[in-house]
Amino acid sequence: MADRFMSMQNLNFTLNSRDCRFREGDILNGHTPKTLDMVFKAALDIGQKIMHPMFEEMDRKPPELDKGTVKVHAGVRPMLKTMGQDGWIAATFPEQWDGEDMPASILHCINFIFATANYSAAVYAGLTMGAAKLLHTFGSSELQKRFLPDMLAGNWQGTMALTEPEAGTSLGDLATQASPVDEEKGLYKISGEKIFISAGDHDGVDNVVHLMLARIEGAKPGVKGISLFAVPKLRYDDDNNLVPNDVTVTQVFHKLGYRGAPITGLRFGEKNDCLGYLVGEPHRGLSYMFQMMNNARLEVGMGATAIATAAYHSSLDYCRSRRQGRSVTAPKGSDPVPIIRHPDVRRMLLLQRAVTEGSLSLILHCGMYEDILTKDAGSKDSNAKDCHLLLELLTPVAKTYPSEMGILSTSAAIQCFGGYGYCDDFPVEQHFRDMRIHPIHEGTTGIQAMDLLGRKLVMENGRTLELLKQEMEDAMTRATQVGETDPELIRMADQLSEALTQVETTAMALGQVAMEKGPDAFLADATLFLEMFGITVIAWQWLTMATSASEALSTGKPKKKETLFFQGKIHVSRYFYAYELPKIISLAASLEKSNQMTTDIPDACFTD
Ligand SMILES: Cc1cc2nc3c(=O)[nH]c(=O)nc-3n(C[C@H](O)[C@H](O)[C@H](O)COP(=O)(O)OP(=O)(O)OC[C@H]3O[C@@H](n4cnc5c(N)ncnc54)[C@H](O)[C@@H]3O)c2cc1C
Repeated sequence: MADRFMSMQNLNFTLNSRDCRFREGDILNGHTPKTLDMVFKAALDIGQKIMHPMFEEMDRKPPELDKGTVKVHAGVRPMLKTMGQDGWIAATFPEQWDGEDMPASILHCINFIFATANYSAAVYAGLTMGAAKLLHTFGSSELQKRFLPDMLAGNWQGTMALTEPEAGTSLGDLATQASPVDEEKGLYKISGEKIFISAGDHDGVDNVVHLMLARIEGAKPGVKGISLFAVPKLRYDDDNNLVPNDVTVTQVFHKLGYRGAPITGLRFGEKNDCLGYLVGEPHRGLSYMFQMMNNARLEVGMGATAIATAAYHSSLDYCRSRRQGRSVTAPKGSDPVPIIRHPDVRRMLLLQRAVTEGSLSLILHCGMYEDILTKDAGSKDSNAKDCHLLLELLTPVAKTYPSEMGILSTSAAIQCFGGYGYCDDFPVEQHFRDMRIHPIHEGTTGIQAMDLLGRKLVMENGRTLELLKQEMEDAMTRATQVGETDPELIRMADQLSEALTQVETTAMALGQVAMEKGPDAFLADATLFLEMFGITVIAWQWLTMATSASEALSTGKPKKKETLFFQGKIHVSRYFYAYELPKIISLAASLEKSNQMTTDIPDACFTD
């Protein structure tokens, strides 16, 4: 299984990063397939030897609040030590911080491997990495020196502390207060309450640093009055000793899935003795946070993809070994066959592959835009701006498609197991539960949808959409060229072209609704539009993969294992175009004919 998984990673990576017209020269900071193999193997080692062995136990014995401290699985502390010592937390940091300047696309692959092994375990270091990046990008060198060494070493946990009881989706309403103690030093007293903070406290580390949003006294209401602070659980006193910073854990939430990581309620400044350090300039907190959010959203998409991939592999193994039933045409008295022989079971396996590999491909493609963006930043005639726009447009899809479809995909994995899938003898029920958080955190699906339709689609007067169209048209042209030896590719390219036209027609029809009936009616069914747009984007990814696979089969001399890999890709792409892409027709019909049903139904009609 590990070998199978490994070769898949590298081949997937090569397949997905080969063709991009923006890509010139080296965006992988010197990494080659050979060095990638080494990095992935080392990550796989951690996944197999450290994370996966505690996958089940972390779920069955979730974190508990005990005398004010959150107790987590005993394996968390040594895991974080290893992640720190071996440089995984600092991987994307520059040399100055003992980092490797790891490109985003490689980091996505690494996170994919960790989250496939054990999603809950992977989250701890991922959160610290995100918080440390925020400090590194916007914090003063003094703040960086104070916090980064212990965070990157895995001694201290980092968190993102945004949500409050009355401010979830609507962060502009948050009420946590910061009052100045010494403005020159950026020192503030913090008071307020946060909820749902992942890894907000636990005994697997010596300290926790919250990257927290709060409102400085007297600041404007709404999003423009929000600032970013670093608020540690323990702070240094004048003698350089670590002392409590008046941060109390009010509760540990008991969750459906993703139970190995604690989600906490926190109170700050109960005794008026909680100090926070301003990060960057005052009142720019939300914009700082949002700059990191794109990456966090891609990571959510990758987490969902990873969980669904693990479920797929479990169900595949089961379908090969479980014998049940016979073909309807089998002679009387013949032996039962492995269930993988039944077409309906194969359909469920194909669905899982279509979702997981389509999602993986999209996120790696986005990672490539991130890397070009980083490499080209500052150069005059760079592609950076175009990549930035594409990334903005695709992020709601890369977050939502794997999250929403991952629920269906892990559900299909359970279905492959029959009754056993519903019981905890096999891991798929846990994967199904672990998956469910993804459409909720880092911006719910409804919010991603409104972001796509209301903002991203019309960015730069529609130039962003034009850029994506150009990307898709390039893929269609290449498919048509390669299709001389594989006519199915030409049919798929034509189908994608029709889908793209359909998306544009629907977007124009919705634009008309906006003009005639206003923004509420325009955005009412944004989630349906995101679904339609998402399926089309994943179809583009499948066309790209099918083209590369077909080319590799006809022009290269792949070994037997690689041949099966490429043939598999072609079969799954055909499945996607036959079973998934046609769904956009009914979505378009609903969007164009909904007559704003959801806005028009009176509240009172939602009767008990
Ligand atoms: C397991 C877990 C881990 C989390 N980790 C963190 C963390 O580490 N840090 C952190 O800060 N937060 C974290 N969160 C919080 C998470 O980001 C929020 O739960 C999420 O943003 C939604 O906020 P809410 O729960 O208040 O729901 P609400 O905002 O009340 O939303 C409820 C429903 O209403 C919809 N809705 C709300 N407003 C609108 C609108 N304007 N238009 C259309 N629909 C709308 C939403 O889409 C949703 O379906 C976590 C949550 C969970 C469950």
